[in-house]
Amino acid sequence: MILRKKLIAGNWKMNKTSADSVTLVKEIAQQIGRQTEVDVLVCPPATALESVGRTLEGANIKLGAQNMHFEASGAFTGEISAPMLRDLFVTHVILGHSERRALFGEDDQLINQKVLSALKTELRPVLCVGESLEEREAGDTLKVVQTQLEAGLAGVSNEQAASVILAYEPVWAIGTGKVATSDQAQEVHAFIRELLTKLFGETIAQKVRILYGGSMKPSNADELLAQTDIDGGLIGGAALEARSFVDLVKAAAKS
Ligand code: PEP
Repeated sequence: MILRKKLIAGNWKMNKTSADSVTLVKEIAQQIGRQTEVDVLVCPPATALESVGRTLEGANIKLGAQNMHFEASGAFTGEISAPMLRDLFVTHVILGHSERRALFGEDDQLINQKVLSALKTELRPVLCVGESLEEREAGDTLKVVQTQLEAGLAGVSNEQAASVILAYEPVWAIGTGKVATSDQAQEVHAFIRELLTKLFGETIAQKVRILYGGSMKPSNADELLAQTDIDGGLIGGAALEARSFVDLVKAAAKS
């Protein structure tokens, strides 16, 4: 059995100025020290990527963006491209977050273009999938996740797939305080791994990390992180404060 290193990723969303971001990431870096048991990723707003990147020099924390455009450059007012992110030493990018899907009309096809562009530019996509409450109540969870996953990863080669990170984020659990039970989450994670096996083969499917996201916090992390197919967390609210984020890194280290 392949041992997947756990990953704790913080999605700061539209919070924190550049100065506030530096303060937070300094606190996080100080508190986690030089641990290497868990991979740690912070995704500040775009305006803070440069300052946070500088602050992280020499630290064992990776830098991620929250979104990007699929074209490398051009007349796309307000957008940021993959090469621009690479230029700031960004290594990861969250794509297909449910807020991008619901509030900014991003569909699977657009998200797929972004995934392919990120991979081409050697950025690791953190591709988010997940069902709404209505979809869960209608019994459509697995169908929705399958559609989002297959469409989001269309055209991704086996070699590229190994560097993709997935996040299962039930929309009804994001920012609501309603966390999925560990059984609910594990069921979907196992299903995702099965799909990955069909798409890319067993070896790659066993390597790809699948994060859980949705109101994860230190008080509920142990049980979630103990599940076979949960390889870490994508954290919103609890990533905005050093203490809770670092406690999640510690929970992952002992899981
Ligand atoms: C998220 O937005 O990716 C998320 C998981 O948020 P929260 O932890 O606040 O539910």
